[in-house]
Amino acid sequence: MTQQIESKKVGIVSLGCPKALVDSERILTRLRSQGYDISANYEGADAVIVNTCGFLDSAKEESLEAIGEALTENGKVIVTGCMGKDADLIKKQHPDVLAVTGPHQYEQVVSAVNKAAPPVANPFVDLVPEQGLRLTPRHYAYLKISEGCNNRCSFCIIPHLRGDLVSRPINMVMAEAEHLAKAGVKELLVISQDTSAYGVDLKYQTKSWRGQDYETRFLDLAKALGELGIWVRMHYVYPYPHVDNVIPLMAEGKILPYLDIPFQHASPSVLKAMKRPANQEKVVNRIAKWRDICPDLTLRSTFIVGFPGETEEDFTYLLDWLKEVKIDRLGCFKYEPVSGAPANEIENAVPEDIKEERWHRLMQVQQEISEEKLAKKVGQVMDVIVDDVDYEENITIARSKADAPEIDGNVFIRDESDYEAGDIVKVQIKEASEYDLIADPY
Ligand code: SF4
Repeated sequence: MTQQIESKKVGIVSLGCPKALVDSERILTRLRSQGYDISANYEGADAVIVNTCGFLDSAKEESLEAIGEALTENGKVIVTGCMGKDADLIKKQHPDVLAVTGPHQYEQVVSAVNKAAPPVANPFVDLVPEQGLRLTPRHYAYLKISEGCNNRCSFCIIPHLRGDLVSRPINMVMAEAEHLAKAGVKELLVISQDTSAYGVDLKYQTKSWRGQDYETRFLDLAKALGELGIWVRMHYVYPYPHVDNVIPLMAEGKILPYLDIPFQHASPSVLKAMKRPANQEKVVNRIAKWRDICPDLTLRSTFIVGFPGETEEDFTYLLDWLKEVKIDRLGCFKYEPVSGAPANEIENAVPEDIKEERWHRLMQVQQEISEEKLAKKVGQVMDVIVDDVDYEENITIARSKADAPEIDGNVFIRDESDYEAGDIVKVQIKEASEYDLIADPY
């Protein structure tokens, strides 16, 4: 007679950025290794983890609401993530939560789950798939190379929440990357708070991978990842001079010709108030040099409008800079004060209606830039990666090397024949809109 072993089930609500998503994946992998199953709903879960975001006040509000909902729907709630630093606030509003832990405190989260819903041993089943558990689709995965940040941007509380930069040694990062590639991942998205600062805290420690020495630094990481033969996309890079050395690897096709650089602004006075490097003229020249070496380079960036003290002059400086540099992909946020951020002390807050107006003006300029850039792609033949197939509409949703998942545009292929998520296929671009492309199989 066989004995049916019912595993305990854990639900997870993951809020916030891709970095928080990676934390959720790690927590789930550990729980799975102890025999837990994952529940997709509140009813089926023996306990629920809420991985919170505490970056903006609106995100905190959303986190508190999510905790409230999990308590009402399930009752056994463990809170983790960035907002865990505000344990008093959480406990005041939701006294029934079982435990509150901060970001990356995986062990504490796991032991809180063990306490709330003790695991059931099942020695017959290997519970951890080879690649660990990922909340992102099978064909792409985020690769977190460090935690924390040594910068002190005045609008940001991440260094306060997550501490100074702590890099993972390159051999460990590469072991994870190789594991993911072997498990079928076709695209790795390298993330951290400041990818270009990778390894500074470890004094660029040398480690061995596949019998060869690599330093724990951005360039060597790009070289090593380039050996895996899959798409590698770099996020949160700052335009420091040493980034120049990575561009030839992009031109050679070792890593994707894509850089996500959060510029935030261009006006020197705003950048100074943000406590960010204010040398945008040098940056213009640097970008021009990069494009000479790698003409296919796609630049993505984020900007903040309405930062305290931003004048109309500062704002038009930013628009002119954008028209000159022509960033390919752009996200824009209206400034929002974050509790505990030094920027809250800066005078001359920009009224909401002006923030709104500037946001629209900036997006209008960007729309024209994007439209112009995408129009030039019509007729080109390129490789795209398939994300999803819509059989009803006969459309395949894919992305080019210029599009990061979730934040950039798409390439819609007018065919759904034999494609599957993760396939890399050749298409010819037939039409372009402001942000997306339409293609036929080639
Ligand atoms: S670089 Fe600036 S904005 Fe980014 S995490 Fe560090 S302090 Fe925050």
